[in-house]
Amino acid sequence: MKLDQTLTTLPDLFYAPATPTAVASPSWVMFNKDFAEACQLDKAWQSPEGLAILSGQRTLASPPPIALAYSGHQFGHWVPLLGDGRALLLGQHKDPQGEWWDIQLKGAGPTPFSRNGDGRSSIGPVVREYLASEAMATLGIPTTRALAAISTGESVQRTTAEPGGILVRMARSHIRIGTFEWVARQGHTEATQALLDYLIAHHHLPIDEDNQALAFYHWVIHQTAHLIAQWMSVGFIHGVMNTDNCSILADTIDYGPFGFLDAFIPDQVYSSIDQGGRYAYQQQPAIATWNLARLAECLLPLIHEDLDQARTQAQDALADFPKLFQSTFQKRMTDKVGLDPNQPRHVETAMAYLDVMAANDADMTLAFRRLGLVQGARDLNDEQLRVLFDDPQAVDQWLAQWRQCLDTLGEEDAHRKARMDSVNPAFILRNHLAQEAVDRAIDALDFSVMHKLNGLLSRPFDEQPEHQQWAGPPHPSQRVLTTFCGT
Ligand code: AMP
Ligand code: MG
Repeated sequence: MKLDQTLTTLPDLFYAPATPTAVASPSWVMFNKDFAEACQLDKAWQSPEGLAILSGQRTLASPPPIALAYSGHQFGHWVPLLGDGRALLLGQHKDPQGEWWDIQLKGAGPTPFSRNGDGRSSIGPVVREYLASEAMATLGIPTTRALAAISTGESVQRTTAEPGGILVRMARSHIRIGTFEWVARQGHTEATQALLDYLIAHHHLPIDEDNQALAFYHWVIHQTAHLIAQWMSVGFIHGVMNTDNCSILADTIDYGPFGFLDAFIPDQVYSSIDQGGRYAYQQQPAIATWNLARLAECLLPLIHEDLDQARTQAQDALADFPKLFQSTFQKRMTDKVGLDPNQPRHVETAMAYLDVMAANDADMTLAFRRLGLVQGARDLNDEQLRVLFDDPQAVDQWLAQWRQCLDTLGEEDAHRKARMDSVNPAFILRNHLAQEAVDRAIDALDFSVMHKLNGLLSRPFDEQPEHQQWAGPPHPSQRVLTTFCGT
């Protein structure tokens, strides 16, 4: 069970030593064998000794665990110091492809950044993040991963006492936009440069131009636009896109009050703390742009010594964001309706489907999946789709337009359906399903729903008739209207 730690080559101000605090009686809730094998992690991590280290009973002699420092803009407001208050990094593992993975314990006790927090986590958010990050990974969306969920045998005080948990999270990086803000806003230009150099070298980023800072900025913009388009193509709302929750590599990170859309409602918000709807579904591209502008402010002195010139260059780079986002999003949508992203009329038709869904409260996941069943030549199977729309005639009109586009392709229905099924999940982590898993875990330390959902979502594109009850939206009594932060 050997780990490395390269982050400690960075200047001291990026991290602080932090030691996990032992818990009463740790036990495995879940261990992600498939991912551990794919990364070729030592099998010993699954043993009792592995459990002792991942729950904080024992600490590896080397490398010493650390907590990372970062700042952030939370809901638009500057917060000079945040940092890993309920998480610490054990070390890093290199997988067979040469990719580095941080191993982080979330909820392993206080760190120098905990302020008044307990550094602990309830089992509820552990279950939610485990399920969500693995569900995103199987959908092919860049994300942090869950290696394990652990029950601590202790309780944590939230609104009431809840069982405690630890999430063992693996991420290519835990560097956030907020990490750049932490050094740059204190005027530490050398440390900002060191962080940039570290990222380029450690992750082999494809940056070889003279102006590395500007090339890096372009790269982050590109990756982020792509990520947000992928989120939105499956109805994902991150919920708390503060700059400290935006990974610099554009992996989805920090699953707190996230949610997946049932009905396609563009201004949907689930987070209980997002009163103004700042982080609503359709705000996400604009918010990503706002966050990337904060990153630019950090990089300006590295882009050009004349700050006015640097600002112009960064603004030009950021001006690409809408185009990058739109092209990925439109391509995804066009693929999802089985049309050709290279034909403008097809793209227009795909985007119009979203408007019909929005106007008719149609379930997003089912509206795409069932469209695969509809026949190109005749109105066979239309009914299964029509029932999803408040006004079924609205979708009839759209289907007529869609069929005209299909005519230009001359593709067999079965072939198109297979193509569509490979991009339209049959199952997503609907909020009421996540809630059921969380409630069972908190109420009775019963992880059976979590296990079942994790199995189901490991094959989201496969029909699984035995789990049909989990394919659709909630009954009114199951509806989850708000979700809470991940403490
Ligand atoms: P997040 O909700 O993950 O965006 O966290 C925002 C900030 O609050 C981060 O600096 C966290 O480390 C910190 N934080 C959240 N929960 C706790 C906790 N239970 N104990 C200590 N710090 C916490
Ligand atoms: Mg966070």
